[in-house]
Amino acid sequence: MSEVEKHGFQTEVKQLLGLLANSLYSNKEVFLRELISNASDAIDKLRFISLEKPEVLGDDPEFRIRVSADKDKKTLTISDNGLGMTRQEAIDHLGTIAKSGTAEFFKNLTGDKSKDSQLIGQFGVGFYSAFVVADKVTVISRSYKSNANEAVCWVSDGSGEFEVSQTTKADRGTEIILSLRDDESEFLEDWTLRSNISKYSDHISVPVQMLETVKPESDDKDDKKEEAEYTEWKQVNDAKALWTKNPKDVTDDEYKEFYKHVSHDYQDPLTWTHNRVEGSQEYISLMYIPQRAPFDMFNREQKHGLKLYVQRVFIMDDADQFMPGYLRFVKGVLDSNDLPLNVSREILQSNKISAQLKKACTKKALQMIAKLAKDEDKTKYETFWTQFGSVLKEGLVEDWENRDEIFSLLRFASTANSGSEQNVSLDDYISRMPEKQKNIYFITAESYQAAAASPYLETLKKKGIEVLLMWERVDEWVMNQVTEYKDKKFINVCSADLDLGDLEDKAEKEEQEAKATENKDLLERIKNALGENVSEVKVSGRLVDTPSCVISEGNAMLTAQMRRLLEASGQKLPEEKFVLEINPDHAIIKKMSAETDEAKFKNWAELVLDQALLADQRGLKDPVAYVKLVNSLLLA
Ligand code: ADP
Ligand code: MG
Repeated sequence: MSEVEKHGFQTEVKQLLGLLANSLYSNKEVFLRELISNASDAIDKLRFISLEKPEVLGDDPEFRIRVSADKDKKTLTISDNGLGMTRQEAIDHLGTIAKSGTAEFFKNLTGDKSKDSQLIGQFGVGFYSAFVVADKVTVISRSYKSNANEAVCWVSDGSGEFEVSQTTKADRGTEIILSLRDDESEFLEDWTLRSNISKYSDHISVPVQMLETVKPESDDKDDKKEEAEYTEWKQVNDAKALWTKNPKDVTDDEYKEFYKHVSHDYQDPLTWTHNRVEGSQEYISLMYIPQRAPFDMFNREQKHGLKLYVQRVFIMDDADQFMPGYLRFVKGVLDSNDLPLNVSREILQSNKISAQLKKACTKKALQMIAKLAKDEDKTKYETFWTQFGSVLKEGLVEDWENRDEIFSLLRFASTANSGSEQNVSLDDYISRMPEKQKNIYFITAESYQAAAASPYLETLKKKGIEVLLMWERVDEWVMNQVTEYKDKKFINVCSADLDLGDLEDKAEKEEQEAKATENKDLLERIKNALGENVSEVKVSGRLVDTPSCVISEGNAMLTAQMRRLLEASGQKLPEEKFVLEINPDHAIIKKMSAETDEAKFKNWAELVLDQALLADQRGLKDPVAYVKLVNSLLLA
């Protein structure tokens, strides 16, 4: 053996290792799924390489995974003849976590082991789960590119370091030897292994074999001490790719297990859809929605998409050409009969067939979500919406073709609810609209509280008109780009030209105009007092309990929330001009109007403007002056 080289695990790997024992306490056997899953991935990758270079298979063309136990040594070995790893690959892949955003994810852990263990679930535990049952893991691997004497031996006890050295291995592939902890010897039992392997690997297309004792004469199962017996590798799983089966023949448990294999998630999926399509286009899709959003859902480099197969042969992971960005949480496989086997990402990008497949998969995924929305168990859609709602909304901008389908899947908080729950659909809203109402009213703000308590809602509330409340980052951007749903216009109640249409009857309109004339002098006085700080002063039609509000002038689309977003993204915006709207029926405005001292009147006017700015969550130019002003009025 050559020199032994010591390496430390990446910090995040150490943290993960520290949490694993806790998180997998009640289902330790998942390590088998993870290791068999990795072996199957390694075989899929080599099979793909061999499409172009059949010679890489050499004299070992039959792919298989083998599991064997040694009761004396207390070891369990999982081996495969997949693509194997070079020394450097072993160091890189088994010492670090390559997912983007990993460091941030770990920074966000709370330090509370039981909570963090839950969170790890969305991360995928992978290879490191081996340390839950083993106090030493040895990996012997030979890459398909390497010679017999260039194999790597990787050893670790899972604490903080691993060792690598050079070794020899007769054939290509990877062998993982687990030295089981004393209390994990159940995994040496033939029956335990068989039942777990069939649970975890019936659905993968590679045969998993175990050594079986063959007795030439007798078939008496209990008689194990026969002399003439010998052992032979026998297949223990179905080895039939799950998606190729008839959906009628697949149990829910099998679907769930397969999900864990393709998604690297260890929780059950929320729902799935399995479609086999024949005809001009032939393909099978099996798509899942997870229960929980991945930690890196908003990371732009995050990989997403389906696992692509062509005629049952694995081609690539994360083929994002078949799923639009707003469905990036969908996991699963797509198996096409029409794409060429030598398809590359570049070809997929410009290929007509892949465009058709994307269309079809998008439809199916949206149908799956629509079905979930109709599920008797309401909590399922609530879960879906909480986890993925804000991503799905992006679809309104990204996917015009399916806009109406997406609209019907959206859920909002509303003034019809007493809390911030998002459970009102646009169709619910429309069905409750009074006959005279032609528009869908909504408000966007920084938080639920700010939206629900906004003075802009007052008149609508008084009239009993429902308003949808929005406060997610994506809302402002999306709502600016949609105009209507089912012939109903979307109207932001903060917009300058809030039009209540027929909700305002003739008498009200006349009253409004009368008020404007009546208060003409007051309006002018306020404008003079505030000077350049406001562009106009008007009598408001939207206020009931509040003395004043501000409306951003000019671009009606540029609401306070939008401004904040644009400014946060570093854009320079022209200084904002406001229209001040006042409520002449409010006691404060009446008091102000009665003030004869112009200097004091100016104080009142400034107060009324500053309050309006504050209520709209806009900053004050001079907060200290505002505080002084309020205090002086309080003491007056
Ligand atoms: P994941 O499977 O999600 O990538 P894992 O922790 O399960 O994460 O595995 C880490 C990496 O180690 C794999 O991506 C792969 O590169 C490598 N690896 C693990 N097991 C094998 C194996 N049996 N053969 C070849 N490479 C492997
Ligand atoms: Mg894995």
